Amino acid sequence: MNNPTDHLNWLEHLLALCRKISEHQELDPILQSIIQTASALTGSESSSILIYEQGTRSLRFRAIPLHLMKSVKLISVPLERSVAGWVFRNRKPMVLGRQRRADDPIYRVVDRELSAETRTLLAVPMIVRDRTIGVLEAVNKQNDADYTAEDVKVVEILAALAAIAIEGWRLQDEAEKAQQAVQEAEQMKTNFVAVAFHELRTPLGVILGQAALLQESLPPEQRQSAESILNSALQLRGIIEQFSTVEALERGLHQVQYERVAPAELARQVIESFGFPASEKGIRIALRPCRTDLLIECDRQKIRTVLENLLNNAITYTDPGGQVLVKIEELPQYVRVSVMDNGIGIPAGEREKVFQRFYQVEKHLTRRHGGMGLGLSIAKEMVELHGGRIWVESVEGKGSNFSFEIPYAPSPRGGGK
Ligand code: ADP
Repeated sequence: MNNPTDHLNWLEHLLALCRKISEHQELDPILQSIIQTASALTGSESSSILIYEQGTRSLRFRAIPLHLMKSVKLISVPLERSVAGWVFRNRKPMVLGRQRRADDPIYRVVDRELSAETRTLLAVPMIVRDRTIGVLEAVNKQNDADYTAEDVKVVEILAALAAIAIEGWRLQDEAEKAQQAVQEAEQMKTNFVAVAFHELRTPLGVILGQAALLQESLPPEQRQSAESILNSALQLRGIIEQFSTVEALERGLHQVQYERVAPAELARQVIESFGFPASEKGIRIALRPCRTDLLIECDRQKIRTVLENLLNNAITYTDPGGQVLVKIEELPQYVRVSVMDNGIGIPAGEREKVFQRFYQVEKHLTRRHGGMGLGLSIAKEMVELHGGRIWVESVEGKGSNFSFEIPYAPSPRGGGK
C-alpha cells in the first residue's frame, strides 16, 4: 500500500465497513463483508472468522465464503494443534509462508473437508475489551507470495472491527433477551395479580356480608367481635382495591371521565365519611371551602380518591387531639386543594420520595402505622391524569401540607375558568 491510490482504496473499504457495522441489525452480512475485504486487500484466496465456543472449548467457523460454509459448519478447531488455536491462546498474529516448518500446526481436517491445500496463511486474534473472542484468517496469497507485515496490519484492523461488531451484536442480543424476560415477568405479575384479586374478592364479599348480618343479629354486648371482623375485612378490601387501582393505572386502563363537580360539596362529603375515624382519635377536621357554586370539570371518583387518600394520611399521621384543615382556593388557572395537619411531619430528605409506590418513611420493622405505601402514588397519578400536580410542604414534628392543583376544565393549555 505504498501508493496513494491503494491508501484511498483501503480507506474506502474501511469506511464502507464502519457504515455497515453502524447500520446493520444482522451480524452475518457484516462478517461476510469483513472477510471479503480481508481477501480483497491481502489478495487471498479466501478468509474466515472463527469464534471461541465455551461449551466445546474449541473454535467454530462463523464466517467463510458462503459456498464453503456447509463443509466447515460442524468442524470444531481445537485450541491445540491448530494455527487458529495458537493465535487464540497466544493473542498474537501468526504468518505461515511457503517455506514450511515440520511443526507448523496446520489443522488438516479443514483442508480435507474443503478439498483444498493451505499453502500460506495469516491469522490474527480478535480481541475486545481485553478478551480474545476468536480469530480472523486469510489463506493462500495470490501468486504463491508470502503475507507481508502490511497484510498483518490490515487484517488486524479488520479483526478489531469484526470483534466490535460481534461484541455489539452480543450486547444487543443480551439486552433483547433481558427485555423479553422483563416483559414476561411483567405479564406473569399482571396475570397473577388479576387472578389473585379475583380469587380474594369473592370470599371477602362473603365475609363482609356474613359479618354485617352477624352484627345486626347479635345482642349489643356481643357485637364487638362481629364489628372487628367487619373492620378487618374492610381493611383487606381497601388493600385489594389499592392494588387493583395501581395495576389498572400501570396498564393505562384509567381514563378521566369528566363531569361537572362542585369541589366544596365533594370535600364536605369526603370529610363527613371520615367522621368516625377522626372522632375516634379526637382529631378535628375543618373545611375552608371555595364558593359553593363553583363548578369544575373533573373525574369525580378520581378526585374523591385523591382527597380520601390525603385525608386518611392526615388522620393516620397526626397524634390524637390534632387538627386537620382542608382548604380550597380558586387560582387563575387552577383550583387548589390543600390538606394540612399538625401531625408528625416528614423529614426533608423524604418529601419527594413519599409519592413513589410502596415508599414509606417509617422503617418496616419499627412501623407504628399501617398502610401499603400506595395512597400517595395513586393520588399523584390521578392528579396528573387531570393535567395537574401534587406536592407536599412539611416540617418534621410540626405537620404536613399536601396540596394539589387541577385545571377548571380539560384543556390543552391546562385550564382556566
Ligand atoms: P401509606 O399507606 O403508607 O400511608 P402513602 O403513599 O399514602 O402510603 O404515604 C407514603 C408515606 O408518606 C407514608 O408511609 C408516610 O410515611 C408518609 N406520609 C404520608 N402522608 C403523611 C402525613 N400527612 N404526615 C406524615 N407523613 C405522611
